[in-house]
Amino acid sequence: MIVAGVALIVLALAVVVLAPRVLTRSAWTIDRPRTALVCWSVAVLLGIVGFLAGVTLVVLANRPVTDPFRLGDSPSHGLNIGVALLAVTAFAVAVRVRPGPEHDAVREAMRSGSAPHREIDGTPVAVVEAEHALACAVPGRSGGVLVSTGLADRLRTDELEAVVAHERAHLTQRHAVAVGVAESIERAVPWIPGARAMARSTRVLVEFAADDAAARRVGRDALRRAVLVADGTSALGAIRTSRLSDAPVGGEA
Ligand SMILES: [Zn+2]
Repeated sequence: MIVAGVALIVLALAVVVLAPRVLTRSAWTIDRPRTALVCWSVAVLLGIVGFLAGVTLVVLANRPVTDPFRLGDSPSHGLNIGVALLAVTAFAVAVRVRPGPEHDAVREAMRSGSAPHREIDGTPVAVVEAEHALACAVPGRSGGVLVSTGLADRLRTDELEAVVAHERAHLTQRHAVAVGVAESIERAVPWIPGARAMARSTRVLVEFAADDAAARRVGRDALRRAVLVADGTSALGAIRTSRLSDAPVGGEA
């Protein structure tokens, strides 16, 4: 049992070390962002479950089946198990997904009705009065899609529809959960380089995935023009526009 446990721990550590290297250096992830996001999830599951299962096997090795934790031997075994359970609970609490304060502010704006709603491409969109070019998707029952007048006024109809389709894809593909989990793991274990790489990569991949969905809906050209207006100056905006000009949009539905 010790050999199997050690093998599982080594396998889990190999996944934690190698998966970020493979996934951040593979060019195909740019064309297939949703597949790449699934690969990150599988790597996280293998890393966490494999490590915990391995440690359990090593700890329980050579223990009698009727009392694997040897609680009968010594009360300190019970204490050790209690501490281990507490550590797992603390990790789970640290990793839990928390919405950012900006999400709360947007939710409040939508709930209070201070932002008038406009129907754009079949989606009710809250339009807030602001000079800054802003578009975002807030998950949850009281969430939705929000754009600023500073952005809406500068876009043609098809470009605005492209922005809304992009934000809607964030909601339907549950990108907030993927980013939330990745960022929570980064906060919980920032000393693992793979955790930082995963959070960075996830934030970019969800943008590519939402772009693909929007491009299928309204066409790459309208979306590319919209990205130039909304986010033309950032490094990610530049990558998104060049991706939309060069490659045909991937077939990931
Ligand atoms: Zn986006």
